[in-house]
Amino acid sequence: MASIEQIRLDFPVLDQQVNGSPLIYFDNAATTQKPKVVLDALNKYYSEDNANIHRGIHALAERATAAFELTRKKIQSFLHAESSDQIIFTSGTTASINLVAQTFGRANFKAGDKILVSNLEHHSNIVPWQMIALEKGAEVLVIPVLDSGVLDLGEYQKLLQENTVKLVAVNHVSNAIGTINPIQEMIALAHAHGAKILIDGAQSVAHMEMDVQRFDMDFFAFSAHKLFGPTGVGVLYGKRDLLESMPPYQGGGEMIKEVSFAGTSYNELPYKFEAGTPNIADVIAFSSSFDYLNSLEKGWVEKQENALLSYATEQLGQIDGLKIIGTAPNKIAVVSFLIEGTHPQDIGVLLDKFGIAIRTGHHCAQPLMQRFDIPGTCRASFSFYNTKEEIDRFVVCLKRVVIMLL
Ligand code: PLP
Repeated sequence: MASIEQIRLDFPVLDQQVNGSPLIYFDNAATTQKPKVVLDALNKYYSEDNANIHRGIHALAERATAAFELTRKKIQSFLHAESSDQIIFTSGTTASINLVAQTFGRANFKAGDKILVSNLEHHSNIVPWQMIALEKGAEVLVIPVLDSGVLDLGEYQKLLQENTVKLVAVNHVSNAIGTINPIQEMIALAHAHGAKILIDGAQSVAHMEMDVQRFDMDFFAFSAHKLFGPTGVGVLYGKRDLLESMPPYQGGGEMIKEVSFAGTSYNELPYKFEAGTPNIADVIAFSSSFDYLNSLEKGWVEKQENALLSYATEQLGQIDGLKIIGTAPNKIAVVSFLIEGTHPQDIGVLLDKFGIAIRTGHHCAQPLMQRFDIPGTCRASFSFYNTKEEIDRFVVCLKRVVIMLL
């Protein structure tokens, strides 16, 4: 297994000075950095293989098509999905969730139906449901969150009781405070009450193994850019019977079998949901993220990130007036915090002067901020390429920033 120093060399962006200090990148929940193999794959595609896919019969089109479809296969294997035609390419988690809302939701929701979301959700797993609920006369209900940042499963069961819930939409992991939700239990409960369930995996894919069949997921959505891949690529996994029963989302090329003014027929899965030229280059480059992750020792990422989380929690806990928001026993390596007498944005701006990138604000989770009655937080989110030494420097700089602000 390579050393952490060697691993960091695989991520060229990490090796730079920002405002005169070495970059410390603690904004991995917003987007992860990309290993060189992904950057090289992008360059190789445009330098050697650039062509539109699926329709061409020439060599470049065939190479590009094969590489594009290979990524689909790698995702199938990463998710342990039944088949690669249940893997649909979108532009991101947001687009995947909107697809389900606009097709499954439009076809299945009716007045009086309930859609359950949790108080921990990112806006992209709230607003699409509000939009379709408004259109259909359905209602969005909320699974409450306890003070620790853990979902209230007792209330979840009560909300399911009447069997009027058509769909539960919940994240696997909260981007704002890092809570890992007990999705296996939540999926079983949803199914026991006749509801389908969509899992937003945007924040879990980079941190833990996934198995859509073992967990019996109906839908699973994630973004490539949170898994060391390029921006502009998302994935929707769905159970075959659900995907087949859903009408297409967007019309155009690729998603059709035959078009005529007398009537148009649609393509098979997954193309039925992939209208137009997709993001070919980024999908192809995403393939290399899986090669990179597979080159790391099994279990090492989780071990390294858990060590970073414990260390950061312990070190930050020693700063006077610092309060961690979200203290769930099961968390990914995200620490969201507030410091008495300071505003998160001021802390973020001043840390940037020391070359430290964190995220401040509501993290696209305003209902969660409202729940805790706070304007936002400072969020440090770690990946396996971060180090304890970086956390030490972060804590030293944070203390200096607090002195400057108070
Ligand atoms: N869901 C969660 C939990 C997220 O953290 C994010 C992004 O931060 C999203 C959804 C939206 O992802 P994207 O902007 O890539 O569509």
